[in-house]
Amino acid sequence: MGRAFVYVILGGGVAAGYAALEFVKKGVSHGELCIISEETVAPYERPALSKGFLLPEAPARLPSFHCCVGSNEERLTPKWYKEHGIELILGTRVKSVDVKRKTLLTATGETISYRILIVATGARALKLEEFGVNGSDAENVCYLRDLSDATRLVTVMQSCKGGNAVVIGGGYIGMECAASLVINKINVTMVFPEAHCMARLFTPKIASYYEEFYKSKGVTFTKGTVLTSFDINSEGKVIAVNLRDGSKLPVDMVVVGIGIRPNTGLFEGQLTLEKGGIKVNGKMQSSNASVYAVGDVASFPVKIFGDTRRLEHVDSARKSARHAVAAIMEPEKSSEFDYLPFFYSRVFTLSWQFYGDNVGEVVHFGEFSGNSFGAYWISKGHLVGSFLEGGTKEEYEAIAKATRFRPAVEDLGEVEKLGLEFALAA
Ligand code: FAD
Ligand code: NDP
Repeated sequence: MGRAFVYVILGGGVAAGYAALEFVKKGVSHGELCIISEETVAPYERPALSKGFLLPEAPARLPSFHCCVGSNEERLTPKWYKEHGIELILGTRVKSVDVKRKTLLTATGETISYRILIVATGARALKLEEFGVNGSDAENVCYLRDLSDATRLVTVMQSCKGGNAVVIGGGYIGMECAASLVINKINVTMVFPEAHCMARLFTPKIASYYEEFYKSKGVTFTKGTVLTSFDINSEGKVIAVNLRDGSKLPVDMVVVGIGIRPNTGLFEGQLTLEKGGIKVNGKMQSSNASVYAVGDVASFPVKIFGDTRRLEHVDSARKSARHAVAAIMEPEKSSEFDYLPFFYSRVFTLSWQFYGDNVGEVVHFGEFSGNSFGAYWISKGHLVGSFLEGGTKEEYEAIAKATRFRPAVEDLGEVEKLGLEFALAA
């Protein structure tokens, strides 16, 4: 026994929400589309979980951040799905997929068949155990990927006001959670193996600005070392973290953000994988013509750089999802996905945006002692990447436009002197 749909979206995160909106815009009929998600709530804007959701005053709570409010579009509540005849199958894990037979098997034992499948399974947080450290299941160790993790993090945070937290990892989760912990009056030590925070994107100069800002808020940095073990008390709580450099930090709670792995497991051996994700073409179509992949799980051709990439950011999830639906519903009108990578973050009163690629030579500009500065990356004589902190809407649009345009750069000194003017004039 089972149900049959024309279109099935597997996964109920950001990409699923934006895909559903696009399906409706393109005229999907009642009963044709379903979304199957392990989460128990309708698709929401995941970025809220490390920002508004963690605020001590007037925190963001559902239904306020259901998709697609992050792009100033309609808010898709469960009622919206109902009104548009979209079946939401929530709290349901898909445990196997047969792409030849075009069927999915859920953990509840139902077989669901599809004509077209959109894979939007996102990613899972890496666990400390994968690095040889035990204790992830301790009562006061928190990860942050979904709403239930965020709810738990809030409970743990509230139970240790004025206490000490150790944040493991100096990437996006580490930086955003550290800021939220400070706002919740918790003392924070960040621990990560690199020489500076956000090592994959920031230059040492950019990182230094944020680290100094965090220090001014009371955050301590322990860099170039990793966690080796926890001291856990008889109640199952971590009371100290032990680091490879021999130090021991007493703690009331731990937040771990050490990267993710895309959820490709259901498709291994069935679809072509590349760079850890499901390989798709410029229409987001996988090696099986009936299966599309979008969001964190998709490795897609980034036309502007002429290579295949898997991105782990919300803008790419939103746009790849919409592109796939347009390609499915209006194949004759649809072109190849032409995406300019875009990452951003907001912490404390700070806010930055990055477009393009961070390769080649770097030119910094602006006031690193103030609150508006940036950087350009120049590779093979062209601008390929731009970063800006504290910009206006128009300035962010200008760096995005300039990066897409890839102007030729002959004199790095001149670009440095022009600073933001270089992008505004490009
Ligand atoms: P997800 O949103 O992760 O959704 C995947 C969905 O699939 C989930 O609902 C999951 O339960 C479901 N699923 C997986 N496997 C199965 C299965 N077998 N059966 C059923 N359901 C399944 N990016 C930014 O650019 N800016 C930000 O500020 C930002 N902040 C973030 C903050 C946090 C806390 C996190 C975790 C991420 C943040 N990101 C941010 C990244 C961004 O949220 C992701 O890139 C985006 O959510 C990816 O969308 P997705 O739909 O591909 O995956
Ligand atoms: P990131 O990949 O951003 O950062 C992981 C960090 O943990 C890196 O500094 C990494 O170092 C470090 N690390 C790896 N292993 C260890 C270890 N054993 N001990 C200590 N540190 C370690 O992943 P996050 O977990 O921060 O973020 C998860 C996902 O959520 C990402 O996809 C991210 O894009 C997304 N996200 C995005 C946000 C945004 O765009 N604003 C906000 C929040 C989340 P190394 O580089 O050496 O591996």
